[in-house]
Amino acid sequence: MHRRPRIAVALAAALTAACLTVAPASGAAASAAAPRSGSVPSAAADGHVWSVRPQADGSVAYTAYRPAPGVSAARLYRLLAAQGVPGLLDPATAATPLTVACAYSTAYAFNGGMCPPARWRWNGYSDPQVYFRDHTPAAWPVRASVTEWNRAVGVDSYWTTGPCPTSGRHCVHVWSGNYGTTGWTGNTSYRLDSSRFFIDGSVWVELNDYYAASTVDRRNTACHELGHALGVGHNLADASCMYATDVPSNPQYPHSSDYNLLRYVLYP
Ligand SMILES: [Zn+2]
Repeated sequence: MHRRPRIAVALAAALTAACLTVAPASGAAASAAAPRSGSVPSAAADGHVWSVRPQADGSVAYTAYRPAPGVSAARLYRLLAAQGVPGLLDPATAATPLTVACAYSTAYAFNGGMCPPARWRWNGYSDPQVYFRDHTPAAWPVRASVTEWNRAVGVDSYWTTGPCPTSGRHCVHVWSGNYGTTGWTGNTSYRLDSSRFFIDGSVWVELNDYYAASTVDRRNTACHELGHALGVGHNLADASCMYATDVPSNPQYPHSSDYNLLRYVLYP
């Protein structure tokens, strides 16, 4: 969504700079945004199983798998290992508590609130332009989820079934299929360059039909994975679709803190 009249450029610059430093910010506006010192609640990072694959060119490829209902991270890890997924981090030992987080209230940047946040480049636009190339059937509410994420100020999200655009605009492929009893409802894959910007062509989402028993399941899963593809990590509030694990309430929408994370922390 395009910017409304917004915070001063100086404040935006300060927030950007703050997100890259270790010193905790002070002041009302800054303290609401990134970074924050102190330990990051483990719930911001756990709940998923990660595959991390360093590349020869210095970039790093990641896939985040969200467990299906009733599947623990430990069990999903074993399932993925049996499927031959490379680069798996054992959730029992992989969590490295951060002492500084890129976060806004209960919403954390991807990779457990890691700073600088994983995000898209502006490429000369006033907001990064992110196109979601939808390969799914109509039962998956990808278009509706893109509309919700486009309410965010600071990054523009578009839905398309056409070719991926060029000229500095980004593209996220969204796939679905009956991937079977994989243990995950959805996953998001991406590569980050050394400045932790998403690399064009490396970001895609997979939505698993197998665990999508209802319309609300699909809405929750689509909202969650598309949020990751914008750089939004997990939210400690279970009213957000970015809550790390499936909950019976199946939140359908981003939380206000997710929008604020996008506006003030990821794309200021
Ligand atoms: Zn997730």
